[in-house]
Amino acid sequence: MQIANSKIEELREMLLTPQNIVILSHTNPDGDAIGSSLAWAEVLKSNGHNVSCIVPNRFPYYLDFMPNSDSILMYKGDIGGRTNNAVRSADIIFCLDFHTMSRLDGLSDVIEENQHAKRVLIDHHLDPMEDFDLMISYPEASSTCYLMALIIEKLYGVESITKSMAENLFVGMMTDTGNFAFSTITPDLFRVVSILVNTGIHVPTIHNNVYNSFSEGRARLFGYVINRKMKIFHNGTVAHMSLTSEEMKRFWFQQGDSEGFVNYPLTIKKMKISAMFTEHNDFIRVSLRSRGDIDVNVFAQRYFNGGGHKNAAGGKSFMSMDDTLKHFEESIKEYSREGNI
Ligand code: 5GP
Ligand code: MN
Repeated sequence: MQIANSKIEELREMLLTPQNIVILSHTNPDGDAIGSSLAWAEVLKSNGHNVSCIVPNRFPYYLDFMPNSDSILMYKGDIGGRTNNAVRSADIIFCLDFHTMSRLDGLSDVIEENQHAKRVLIDHHLDPMEDFDLMISYPEASSTCYLMALIIEKLYGVESITKSMAENLFVGMMTDTGNFAFSTITPDLFRVVSILVNTGIHVPTIHNNVYNSFSEGRARLFGYVINRKMKIFHNGTVAHMSLTSEEMKRFWFQQGDSEGFVNYPLTIKKMKISAMFTEHNDFIRVSLRSRGDIDVNVFAQRYFNGGGHKNAAGGKSFMSMDDTLKHFEESIKEYSREGNI
């Protein structure tokens, strides 16, 4: 995969003189969102720009170790108005790792108020919205962090990648590829990983920080969900799991504790689709995973107001939990009748 030179030159042009820059990523930010934002912020700052990273809500506690993560502004609960001020004075707004404004929740209204800033998309999701001054959209890229590394390489050279940038970029590449195991990996990804490792990052430590730093409550919640809440149907090929607010409270739930649960049913040999439903204040969050040719991006668009990638997608439901699960089972039947499963 190559990023078009014309896009890089457009970006270079935009960044010739010091700019006020806002870097935005999506609600429920993950390792790829945070990693790409922080690495991009660091290289832009060292090139003389004034940069703020903003996310709609808090990222999971186990990503706190990521270098400079304490500099990220959170829109939800921001009482000092720092996010509003940063957006208001931005000359350029970078949108990283998301493809529709609906993934910003309330923060999208704040963005709309600034009509003078240039908008740039850097992302790897299918079907991005179109209203950008510059779109660096490559759905074939395994992560936004990989895209970001390619951009930084072309724009400022590999020498500009510091150890802290490398650590941040590595987290996104590792998490979005399921530990370098998904079909999205390419030889060039490993070339880039080798550049990162050469900066002196310690891969086992990063791995431990991301995957072995959870709370006791999370481990117990995981056992509960798999044992008590996983329903397998459609001849053993589809599974769904759900968590209500009451159940989350019972296990001292912290934001991010259920990340990754949705992958687990796919460890069963026959399984083709897995879904996880988690209750939030005014909606139910839907998380979908599939194997091989089965497309949950289309499924999420059609039945859950969402989207994403072919094998990992998500959306929202505004029905009760019971009705949501019924709707999921009915939707699976319909999708299957059409030959999609
Ligand atoms: P996760 O299940 O990890 O929350 O999300 C998997 C993928 O689904 C994300 O990378 C994102 O592309 C997509 N996704 C998750 N939630 C939504 C949503 O509400 N709307 C859209 N359009 N995509 C989503
Ligand atoms: Mn991503």
